[in-house]
Amino acid sequence: MKDISNVALAALTSLHAGGKAKNLIELEPGDNLASVIAGAGKPLQVLGYGTNILVSDKGLPGTVILDRVGRIELLGSGKIRADSGANWDELVQTAIKNNLWGLEFTSGIPGGVGAAIAGGIAAYGHKVEDSLIEATILNTKNGSLISWPKDKLGFGYRSSSLQKPENGHLIVLDATFSLSSSSQGELQYESALKTAQEMGLEPDSLANRRKIILQTRRRAGSLLQDTTVGPWTAGSFFKNPMVGEAEIRKIIDHEETNTTREMLLRQNVIHGGSRARVSAAHVLLAAGFHRGQTWDQVRLHPDHILKIENLGKAAASDIYKVVQLIISTVKEKLGIDLEPEVRFIGEF
Ligand SMILES: Cc1cc2nc3c(=O)[nH]c(=O)nc-3n(C[C@H](O)[C@H](O)[C@H](O)COP(=O)(O)OP(=O)(O)OC[C@H]3O[C@@H](n4cnc5c(N)ncnc54)[C@H](O)[C@@H]3O)c2cc1C
Repeated sequence: MKDISNVALAALTSLHAGGKAKNLIELEPGDNLASVIAGAGKPLQVLGYGTNILVSDKGLPGTVILDRVGRIELLGSGKIRADSGANWDELVQTAIKNNLWGLEFTSGIPGGVGAAIAGGIAAYGHKVEDSLIEATILNTKNGSLISWPKDKLGFGYRSSSLQKPENGHLIVLDATFSLSSSSQGELQYESALKTAQEMGLEPDSLANRRKIILQTRRRAGSLLQDTTVGPWTAGSFFKNPMVGEAEIRKIIDHEETNTTREMLLRQNVIHGGSRARVSAAHVLLAAGFHRGQTWDQVRLHPDHILKIENLGKAAASDIYKVVQLIISTVKEKLGIDLEPEVRFIGEF
């Protein structure tokens, strides 16, 4: 492992903003996360690939552990186990290479396995818990290891019980998935089906499904760009909110949303929400925000309004201010409570 002091965290996050870590331990192949945590100075902050966080400009005290390495093992009978630091998309590719179905719709989601469990990732109709059997959890208060079946992890829409403030001492060490030798469900998402048609591909093989999903994500601006100059994002910034019938009407009636109630609700079910959730992108449009709207170094993506971008020199506080403005405007104009999907790390 590498143990370094005073490390700028911005470049270690996909939003490229925020301050320094007082100490940073970067795991290397063969390191054991539980042992590293046992020996690290407190307070502790475990980070994966930094694709779903905004780090405070004030930086982080104590120790940041950067968990970006890990094994992926085939266990037989369709089971596959991955360490928390393994890259999610490498796990998906390993499954596909071994003709195992179940993870293919999550192709191209950036980040690590640990955060995928803690945050309950989902895409194109597949949720992480659909294939998960159990996760090994470290209790950093007493060093004990617990094996939690998925039912104990309290998965909800883009969430798990590990994100509750009282569970901040619980860290995912590894996860075991059960996959299948045949397809477990059809591709339903309209934009992906349209992509399949345009590519002339049937979504009936693992290889084709991966190609279709990656191309659909590319078009939606949902493939992480490796750029040194920006713009940078953390993906969709807000969760699709739960709304009542009256709010749905306000969103549908807005000319920019340009969609029917049925289509709106169907899209949300496919996105992993229930029928009472609406697209947060539609909510932003209905509240008067527009694609490409810019506040100095912070912009709403020109095509995908839900992706808040750092144009190059934004501080975390600049991004945070825009987030707060959006939340308060949406509440004031539509009466809807928007919740960020991106996690704020440190003091804001
Ligand atoms: C371009 C883009 C597209 C995206 N598309 C999707 C999508 O389609 N679907 C989706 O669900 N998400 C999507 N995301 C969000 C992101 O990919 C996921 O949230 C991902 O799981 C984050 O992984 P990470 O390793 O980068 O986590 P980080 O950003 O490093 O951390 C996120 C949180 O997880 C915690 N954490 C990290 N490791 C552990 C661990 N071992 N145990 C407990 N907690 C831990 C951290 O403390 C932090 O609170 C997208 C992001 C981007 C930038």
